[in-house]
Amino acid sequence: METRETSKSHALWQRARAVLPGGVNSPVRAFRAVGGEPLFYARARGSRIWDADGNEYLDYVASWGPCILGHAPDGLAEVLHDAATRGTTFGAPTEGEVRFAEALQKAVPSLEKLRCVSSGTEATMSALRLARGATARDKIIKIDGGYHGHADCLLVAAGSGAATLGIPGSAGVPAAVARDTLTVPWNDLAAARAVFAEHPRDIAAFIVEPVPGNMGVVVPAPGYLEGLRALCDEFGALLIFDEVITGFRVAYGGAQARYRVRPDLTCLGKIIGGGLPAAVYGGRADLMDRVAPDGPVYQAGTLSGNPLAMAAGAWMLATLAQPGVYERLEALGARLEAGLRALGGGVTINRVGSMMTTFFTPEPVTDYTSAKRADSGRYARFFRAMLARGIALAPSQFEAAFVSLAHTDEDIDRTVAAAREALISG
Ligand code: PMP
Repeated sequence: METRETSKSHALWQRARAVLPGGVNSPVRAFRAVGGEPLFYARARGSRIWDADGNEYLDYVASWGPCILGHAPDGLAEVLHDAATRGTTFGAPTEGEVRFAEALQKAVPSLEKLRCVSSGTEATMSALRLARGATARDKIIKIDGGYHGHADCLLVAAGSGAATLGIPGSAGVPAAVARDTLTVPWNDLAAARAVFAEHPRDIAAFIVEPVPGNMGVVVPAPGYLEGLRALCDEFGALLIFDEVITGFRVAYGGAQARYRVRPDLTCLGKIIGGGLPAAVYGGRADLMDRVAPDGPVYQAGTLSGNPLAMAAGAWMLATLAQPGVYERLEALGARLEAGLRALGGGVTINRVGSMMTTFFTPEPVTDYTSAKRADSGRYARFFRAMLARGIALAPSQFEAAFVSLAHTDEDIDRTVAAAREALISG
C-alpha cells in the first residue's frame, strides 16, 4: 500500500470551501460519508483518473454513470472541437438535435417524441409536470430510497446523497408539495396497490428507477415492473421510468429493453450526453403533444439541445450501437462480481450488467430497508482502504460502482486483489 501525497488536493479544498458550500458543487463529492477530504481531480483517460497531486486511480465512479466508454475516449475531443468551432449555442433549432432525437428514438422505441433538457433533475421535474397536466391529478408515487434529482416534490424519502447524509427530505420543500408525494417500498406490489387503492383517482404518475441505483443497486423482483405497469393501467396513472442511470447502461435501450416493460414516459441523462450536460424526457406522442408550444404544459431551456451536448450524445449513441458492447460490459461486470464474491467477507453483491453495489451486510438487499442494514462504517473503511490502493469507488454505500468499456480484465483482477487486502485491513 502506497502513502499518497495529497497536499495539492488539500490546498484546493481549503480554497474551495471559501467560495463553494462544503467546497463542492454537488454534496456527495465532499466525502462526508466516508471521512477524510475529497480529492480534486485533474485529468482522466480510459479507466484511470489522476488527482491534482498526480496520484493515479482506477475509476469506478465514472462521473456517477456517464463515462461508460471510460474517460476522454478516442474520437470525442474531435467531435467536440468540430461542434465548438461552428458555435457553442444558438438558442434556435439545429440539425444536431434532430439527429440526436432520431438516434434516441431508434434505440428506445417508447420515446415516440422527446424533449431535450440539460440535467436529469430537469427531465424528471418536467415529466412529472406533464403527467400532472395530462391526468389533471396532483399526487405522485415514488419509491423509498429512490432518487430522481432535486426537484421539490422528489426530495421525499430520497436516496443517493440525501440517503448518504441522512437527510432524505430537504429544508425548503413546502409541506403542501411534499404531501402530494406518496412513497412505497421497492419490490412490494401489495404496498403499491394499497396506495393506489387509497387514492384511486388522484395518482398522476408512478416514477421509478427500473433498477434502483441510488440506494445502491437493487434488482427488480421478477414481475415487479410488469406489476407496476398493470397497476398504473388499472388506476389511470402514468408509469414513468427514470432511466437516468439505467439508460444505455443495463442495455442499449435501457432497462425497458432489458425487462421488456414499456413506460408511458422515460427520463434519460448521464450516458446520453457523452459526458456533456444533456438529458431528455419523452414517451407517448399523445402525452408529449401536450408540451409547449403544441400544448399547455410549459417547459423551456436556454441551453436545451446544446450543440456540443448533442454532438457528444449522438457520437456516444453511435459508439454504443456497435456489436459486442453490452456483451463486453456484462462480461467485465460478471468478472468483478465473481472475483469479489469469492472473497466472502460477509457482503451482499447486487449487480445488473455493469452497475453493481457491494453492501456490507450478509443479508439479501431487496429494498431500502434492507439496504440500510448495511454497515456504512465498514463501507467507509473499505472505501479508504481501496483508495489507498489506487481504486476509486463511490464515496457512499448507497451508490453503484460502474464498470466501463475501458476497463480491462487486468484492471478487474487488480481491483479484486486490492479488495482482498482491503477487506482484511477493514
Ligand atoms: N435520476 C436518477 C436515477 C439519478 O441517478 C440522478 C442523478 N444521480 C438524477 C435523476 C438527477 O440527475 P442530475 O444529477 O443530472 O440532475
